[in-house]
Amino acid sequence: MAQVSTVTGMVEADQLGTTLIHEHLRNSDEAVHNQWPQAGAAKEEPPHEVGPDEVHEIAVREAKAAVDLGIKTIGEPTAMFLGRDVSFMKRVSEETGLQVLPCTGIYTYDHLPQFFMNRDPDQIAEFFIADIEQGIQGTDIKAAFIKCAADEPGVNENIEKIHRAAARASVKTGAPIMAHSRPASNTGPRQIEIFLEEGVDASKIQIAHTGDTDDLDYIEGLLEKGVWIGLDRYGLDLFLPYEKRQATAKGLLERGYADRIFLSADSVATTDWFPSNVIEQLIAAGAAHDWTIRIVPEKVLPELREWGLSEEQERTMMVDNAVRWLTA
Ligand SMILES: [Zn+2]
Repeated sequence: MAQVSTVTGMVEADQLGTTLIHEHLRNSDEAVHNQWPQAGAAKEEPPHEVGPDEVHEIAVREAKAAVDLGIKTIGEPTAMFLGRDVSFMKRVSEETGLQVLPCTGIYTYDHLPQFFMNRDPDQIAEFFIADIEQGIQGTDIKAAFIKCAADEPGVNENIEKIHRAAARASVKTGAPIMAHSRPASNTGPRQIEIFLEEGVDASKIQIAHTGDTDDLDYIEGLLEKGVWIGLDRYGLDLFLPYEKRQATAKGLLERGYADRIFLSADSVATTDWFPSNVIEQLIAAGAAHDWTIRIVPEKVLPELREWGLSEEQERTMMVDNAVRWLTA
């Protein structure tokens, strides 16, 4: 059995257990955080803004809650620009027993720093490869997968460059790719096209946030390429209301796609992207509801079981798919 890298070391893939593939223990703007360390983060349940100690405390609380609900592992797609800090992840993992799979990569919709503007995809790929083969941020913690993103601006020049760098690092190391997508901007097909052009096997490609649409034809168009999809924003009603997400999951399960689907929430234990009063307004306006690391085990899965999800389908989605994607 192949091994997978977690923040506390390599584990046999069959030890991953029930896995939420896309959850963030913290989300922070790393440039602001570096320049103004005093800047606070906000919990998605307002009203208060919190300092670094509480950011840690809340991450531990949420990770512990996930463990208590039977979650053994999370994919942690906090890449560059989201405040990646593997030492933070390691502390949370050690304190809670939650296994955490760290990533390499760059999370951007168009901006690139001069450093990467002036380097080509092969040179950028070298940074990803070093994270995968040697370790992240001076530690021996190795990245388990590669993250990249395309959103409203589409797959423009900078985004294509990062996708090609991610693809080349994947081809070189065998690490799988998780690509943030935006169905409303039809980014998925072009993202897949770039990866395939670069020689990445479709079984290593996960198109995250596919569940932001309930257009089954669009989704099946992606699935026909042989990739994985993330129905991974349960609770973020802003992009698609909960009931529509569940209807989409059921529709795909009825069509036999349990072996291609990841269920997750893309939760952030804390974030500094918004001041707490803005988060309060967004939640009051219905942007998010029960949007936590707990929503899948606590609400989504029990409802699906009641609807008719079989034990085998659940095991496929929540245990086996992560192993297959990570070790393809
Ligand atoms: Zn995410």
